Amino acid sequence: MLILVLNSGSSSIKYQLRQVPVPDDPLRAADGPQSNGADDGGRVITGGLVERIGDRAAGPDSVSDHAEALERIALAVNEALDGQELDAVGHRVVHGGERFSAPVLIDNEITRAIERLNPLAPLHNPANVLGIRAITDKWPALPQVAVFDTAFHRTLPEFAWRYAVPDVLYRNFGIRRYGFHGTSHEFVAHQAAKLLGVELGAFCAVIAHLGNGASVAAIQDGVSVDTSMGFTPLEGLVMGTRSGDIDPSILVFLARQGMDADEIDDLLNRDSGLQALAGNNDMRSVVESAEAGNHRAVLALAVSSYRLAKYIGGYHVAVGGAQALVFTAGIGENSWQFRQLVAGRLSALGIKLDDDANRKRSKEPRVISTADSDIAVLVVPTDEERAIAEATAAVVVSSR
Ligand code: AMP
Repeated sequence: MLILVLNSGSSSIKYQLRQVPVPDDPLRAADGPQSNGADDGGRVITGGLVERIGDRAAGPDSVSDHAEALERIALAVNEALDGQELDAVGHRVVHGGERFSAPVLIDNEITRAIERLNPLAPLHNPANVLGIRAITDKWPALPQVAVFDTAFHRTLPEFAWRYAVPDVLYRNFGIRRYGFHGTSHEFVAHQAAKLLGVELGAFCAVIAHLGNGASVAAIQDGVSVDTSMGFTPLEGLVMGTRSGDIDPSILVFLARQGMDADEIDDLLNRDSGLQALAGNNDMRSVVESAEAGNHRAVLALAVSSYRLAKYIGGYHVAVGGAQALVFTAGIGENSWQFRQLVAGRLSALGIKLDDDANRKRSKEPRVISTADSDIAVLVVPTDEERAIAEATAAVVVSSR
């Protein structure tokens, strides 16, 4: 099937046109990515990024709105399709709230339901809906599927998703932990189980998705039972420009110093993390500076690897003993130095890295621990577009 995958942000749309195998068992396939039995992830036909939406002053490359961005994408996609018909569009939707625990076929009611979640993800969901509406206007008959970043974490037990605050905050505002990066964690969990030859339903692991945004997920018997991001993607690990966990009283303190909500939001989401500690949010530069002896960079790596190791230790306990620790996303897949730092803090768990395997560059899922490591350590490249395309195909086939 030919699936257009859209990641519609407020000022950019990332797209990928993919050919994926037709799921042969729709009921099973609707369970999630990879469950259709297809081994290959299909083919990327074309893809790209349209930026500077709604910023006419930004120059000749800018477009006025999502509809115009989509016109541009449609041109590129039509050229690549060369007369073939598109089967469906799969949308990455950031927040599915408590309602959505699986990908769904989009209709007007679903679009409105996604819109009602706007207060929970004010930067993301409105932009996702603009993408959905632009496709509806352009290709009204084309099936569209929403794949939610939060959905995989709907299996968290209540003791993991509750904050210890008055219940009225949950009832009135939906303040609870949701978790994000779900599409990636789910995809990687499937791939890792397959690599180790373990049934997904019996697979216990800790997955570290380490990109510009970073989160850890605790996988027990194939489902997510805890994750480090919470009400928003700010909680948890040290990230490129986000602080991750801090004492919430710091926010109150800053407010009393006269900072307003937007300033605090910017401080913690855009000016913190590696950026604040090392003066740079790109892990490659931070590692290079640390190797050259820069103290701030060394400290940034120490703070971020220590925080991650604490989460991994905790989640190892949460899942009743992990069979695998899995690294994925930009840093997890590429930075052998960061993996080495993290693994070095986990020797109490009997984790032993194979130094050569850890340093080797590859795009394939692979084991990087020694044969006698108590927990297998894996690197599994994530592919959210593939996961969205496969989930979309499965939903479309099962709805026919
Ligand atoms: P992502 O958000 O998954 O695209 O990941 C972005 C992060 O991956 C950035 O911090 C990059 O510095 C980091 N990254 C990408 N390639 C490498 C590499 N070869 N070594 C270290 N970090 C990398």
